[in-house]
Amino acid sequence: MFGKLLIVATPIGNLEDITLRAIRVLGEVDMIFCEDTREGKKLLSHFNISKPLDSFHAQSLGSKTEKIIGLLSEGKNLALISDAGTPGISDPGVVLVKKVREELPDVQIITIPGPSALTAALSISGIPTDEFIFYGFLPHKKGRETIFKEIADSKRTSVFYESPHRIMKTLEALATRLADSRIIAVCRELTKIYEDVFYGTAGEARRYFAENPEKIRGEFVVIIGGK
Ligand code: SAM
Repeated sequence: MFGKLLIVATPIGNLEDITLRAIRVLGEVDMIFCEDTREGKKLLSHFNISKPLDSFHAQSLGSKTEKIIGLLSEGKNLALISDAGTPGISDPGVVLVKKVREELPDVQIITIPGPSALTAALSISGIPTDEFIFYGFLPHKKGRETIFKEIADSKRTSVFYESPHRIMKTLEALATRLADSRIIAVCRELTKIYEDVFYGTAGEARRYFAENPEKIRGEFVVIIGGK
């Protein structure tokens, strides 16, 4: 009998956002895999959950996937969490789920849904969500220009994740490419103390962040309304 693989969403900042089901499941599984074990330990100790913990991150995909496949084959129930939000949404979880589906098609992969920066940002952006394209993180070099062009031409809402190191460059690129009629929402530090949403044109966003450098910190989701 195979074990189950539970894909467990965790908070993106505010620990009150964990679900009751996530707490129960994390307390019941045989073992938990997480991206950064320091982050995983913090979360588990906050909820008084004591379980064997191991890392599953971009640098250890191959060996850890094999280990997980072995444990599932032995009947162990495993949970996967990421540093924040829903595993598999722009993080290494997607690789594991694909591999388990391919190699162990009889294993039940169960979602324990909850927060994701993607849906949290869309829900408060005021920008249409009926049709959107999600780019994850934009490429740093090759392909970046093509995506900006695609966004400028798109009738759909576009969404991507951005880091504080690149947000100004990205806003500058958007300001030069997007017409003034296009609305963007820059959602920052969602669910945390400094949660903040800038809503306006790309030109206004560039000015706002240039004038408020203390806001170029933390984690960002950028949403651009369609043409
Ligand atoms: N799997 C995660 C999810 O479901 O949201 C996303 C993982 S991705 C590696 C991390 C990125 O998500 C950050 O760089 C940032 O762009 C975005 N993000 C995560 N938490 C956020 C928050 N509290 N506010 C804004 N963006 C956030």
